[in-house]
Amino acid sequence: MRRAPIAVILACFLICSCTSRRNEEKPSTVANQPATSPAQGGTLVVMLGTGTPNPDPERSGPATAVIAGGQAYLVDCGPGVVRRAEAAWQRGSDELEMAGLTRLFVTHLHSDHTAGYADLILTPWVLGREQPLEVYGPPGIRSMTDHILAAYAEDIDIRLQGAQPQDEPGITVEVHEIAPGEIYRDDHVTVTAFSVPHGAWEHAFGFRFDTSDRSVVITGDTTPSDSVVEACSGCDVLVHEVYAKTGFDSRSPDWQAYHKASHTSGVELGEIAARARPKLLILYHQLMWGATEEELLAEIRQSFDGEVAFADDLDVY
Ligand SMILES: [Zn+2]
Ligand SMILES: [Zn+2]
Repeated sequence: MRRAPIAVILACFLICSCTSRRNEEKPSTVANQPATSPAQGGTLVVMLGTGTPNPDPERSGPATAVIAGGQAYLVDCGPGVVRRAEAAWQRGSDELEMAGLTRLFVTHLHSDHTAGYADLILTPWVLGREQPLEVYGPPGIRSMTDHILAAYAEDIDIRLQGAQPQDEPGITVEVHEIAPGEIYRDDHVTVTAFSVPHGAWEHAFGFRFDTSDRSVVITGDTTPSDSVVEACSGCDVLVHEVYAKTGFDSRSPDWQAYHKASHTSGVELGEIAARARPKLLILYHQLMWGATEEELLAEIRQSFDGEVAFADDLDVY
């Protein structure tokens, strides 16, 4: 009996804090500062999710933010993307405030890269996004978007018609189905899409971001590809997926065949990086299967002697 009032107070606190973020101050405590300290005011890469389809609590689904000119440009929206963006904002990435999440680039439609899409459409809108979400992705992204909006039609209708101060533009999704080439340009960044080979997918892309101070290439999922080498070609940052060959060797033959046709081993990535010559190679979407970080890095070191980072969620480069 004595606990009931506390529960009620806690419930009220949670509800209030979940519905009145529009003018809320950012928490002042900053924990777990990133391992690297990029140049002040320059382009940053924030690893929002470095995971795979495996539901590792420490690794959200694939999602990366390129920060330039005060704007966040998201690449992929794996499960957890919105909560990781909130965590990055609390750690000091002002551009990842909910209301500012208005640019998304999708590499391909695999569920591990898109299972957070509904969250990204809905939650930032509920918390104050007033601009449309601009989405650039492969053919099929329009259908996925339409179906998500249809699935949540009742929620959207209640928020628009009810007592909540929600406006229409923030729930609008402007979808752009893309082909290889320049797909986006504004005052801060030019984004170029390039095709990557990824199993049976007809449309899978990597993206190159060119800003005033940095070039960043993000592969999405890919087998070893000349298109990555060409897109990077001495770029500042190459964010590349990878699996550990030592872990791969323990897999069953059918899974080995699948991964070989869909992804890039550490040994292969070393060869790709040696040709692509990035100033910094960032590993994400790491499929380890019990291999250690050191074993994976040793595979890459067989061919590439440049700087390599084994990314974790919320690392900033
Ligand atoms: Zn994937
Ligand atoms: Zn994939």
